[in-house]
Amino acid sequence: AKNQGRRGLQYYTPAMSMETIRRLSLENSLRSALDRGELKLHYQPQVSLENGRVMGVEALLRWQHPHRGWISPAQFIPLAEENGLIVPIGEWVLNTACAQAKTWQVTGEPPLTIAVNLSARQFLQTKFIAQIDQILGQCGLAAKVLKLEITESLLMQDLKGAITTLHALKERGIQLAIDDFGTGYSSLNYLKRFPLDQLKIDRAFIRDITREPDDAAIAQAIIALAHSLKLEVMAEGVEREAQVAFLQAKRCHAIQGYYVSRPLPPEQLAPWVRENKR
Ligand code: C2E
Ligand code: CA
Ligand code: CA
Ligand code: CA
Repeated sequence: AKNQGRRGLQYYTPAMSMETIRRLSLENSLRSALDRGELKLHYQPQVSLENGRVMGVEALLRWQHPHRGWISPAQFIPLAEENGLIVPIGEWVLNTACAQAKTWQVTGEPPLTIAVNLSARQFLQTKFIAQIDQILGQCGLAAKVLKLEITESLLMQDLKGAITTLHALKERGIQLAIDDFGTGYSSLNYLKRFPLDQLKIDRAFIRDITREPDDAAIAQAIIALAHSLKLEVMAEGVEREAQVAFLQAKRCHAIQGYYVSRPLPPEQLAPWVRENKR
């Protein structure tokens, strides 16, 4: 809580200033994390429910802090979005993920789609399309191998700009997915105006899908919506067999989650794919 001091100074409770100090120091170390190579990508497999094949992977950011250990992206990405560091970090993520996908192709792995998460600031940069072209060109990666995951709230920040950018990406053959579908400002109206390929059902709806009738109804409605709009639908955060059975019965196309595999460091991904190939 904030109190007005006698001369207009603001006093903060100790808990709040500790939090501020923590944030500031995290912010400072995030600035050098990129240069020091403390950021890594892990890759989580995505599996088709139609034929059991590995379709692709999602790249997920990891930060190994020298003193604090592993820091979750849920903690540092909001910070990076506020201070703009998400722009160089996001560029590094795209570069690293595309280079990794190319390496897997060269070593004879089956072509896996590589899904990359985008933040609003990164996506809304005017040079974003040029950046994508440059990265795909430099890596020698076919555009159709890349899938970009964007959120509803990102799209709503600048609807007109987003539609232009999405069409430019689609023209190149890049795949587009709406992440965490159902959790943002859902405007069903945009679904038909955006050139989308996939909806990802948020883990929040999947968690209790076999126990909570409301969650089951929402998941089922999203799957039906995807079918009627001819979009692919993927469930995230799938952990249990019973969830798989539910999703398969409703004809959800694909799943991702600990049931299949945790996100893996790159050196473990290729062996995992070889073992789980059908
Ligand atoms: P997300 O895009 O919704 O990613 C899915 C999150 O669920 C990941 O958390 C993943 O590790 C976790 N997860 C996957 N399967 C399961 C499961 O079966 N059970 C449970 N309990 N969790 C599961 P993670 O890696 O901590 O990432 C958190 C969020 O940070 C991501 O959520 C995404 O929004 C953001 N993020 C991660 N990497 C990037 C990135 O490179 N760029 C941007 N802009 N955001 C990123
Ligand atoms: Ca995602
Ligand atoms: Ca997601
Ligand atoms: Ca999610």
